[in-house]
Amino acid sequence: MADTTDTFDEFLPEALRFCSPAPLVDIGANLTHASFARDLEATLRRAWAANVTTLILTGTDREHAEQAVALARRHPGLHATAGVHPHDASRWDTAQEAAMRALHRQPEVVAVGECGLDFNRNFSTPTEQERAFEAQLGLAAESGKPLFLHERDAGRRLREMLHAWRDDIADAVVHCFTADRETLYGYLDLDLHIGLTGWLCDERRGHHLRALVGEIPLDRLMVETDCPYLLPRNLPAKLKGRRHEPALLPWIVREIAHWRGMPETELAQATTATARAFFRLDETIDDHHALEEGHRDG
Ligand SMILES: [Zn+2]
Repeated sequence: MADTTDTFDEFLPEALRFCSPAPLVDIGANLTHASFARDLEATLRRAWAANVTTLILTGTDREHAEQAVALARRHPGLHATAGVHPHDASRWDTAQEAAMRALHRQPEVVAVGECGLDFNRNFSTPTEQERAFEAQLGLAAESGKPLFLHERDAGRRLREMLHAWRDDIADAVVHCFTADRETLYGYLDLDLHIGLTGWLCDERRGHHLRALVGEIPLDRLMVETDCPYLLPRNLPAKLKGRRHEPALLPWIVREIAHWRGMPETELAQATTATARAFFRLDETIDDHHALEEGHRDG
């Protein structure tokens, strides 16, 4: 690691300038969100300085997935997913399916998704969601790439639908897992991976997760910010704008390590090894410092 003091800008208060003891993979970063448009480069520099060396950019629809792919082409250490989020399932049609199929052929796209079911908000009807999800299960089977899944209040139905496809698809991760023990074991029985966010940093609603995190096998566990959403509620300093970002991932890892009763370093190493295998990232370490000089922008 280079000296972090010259790579951190003034945006993060001193108390929030974390540096993970081992490189981390943020498996869910919504960096194509409008809130990052102004300072994306600085956001990336803060991530590298925090030793968050690899970011999987979440593609939640065609537009965002294409933007994520473009970013991944420009920056080492960035990769993309491509899918249609259950909220937008009502827009699923054959044109979307063709666009997704083309995106899944891109080397920058390392997973199919974000897709799945969200019966909590039902921005699209359950029927529309199941139709779009079913089609994307088919695309995952076709491409052979792993799935990046979203589920809220729909664990039982998600499991049923996955069960029917399980032998045809590669690995799948339920990102931002927040459900109960029964749902967790249902997912583990299907041989799924689990993504944890800073949800368990929330003293109001993360309690049940704190008791559960120790039951997730290390070769099934990955970590993510889901930024700009889900800013951890117990950060040691206030953050202007309250926008979550990848540089804060070490705080979440520290919290999970605490509730698992294991060293932060070990957890960081294990989740990174799991993520690199899951997304089939090559063995080369993402060395941002070597590339900083001849910055590959444009
Ligand atoms: Zn999600």
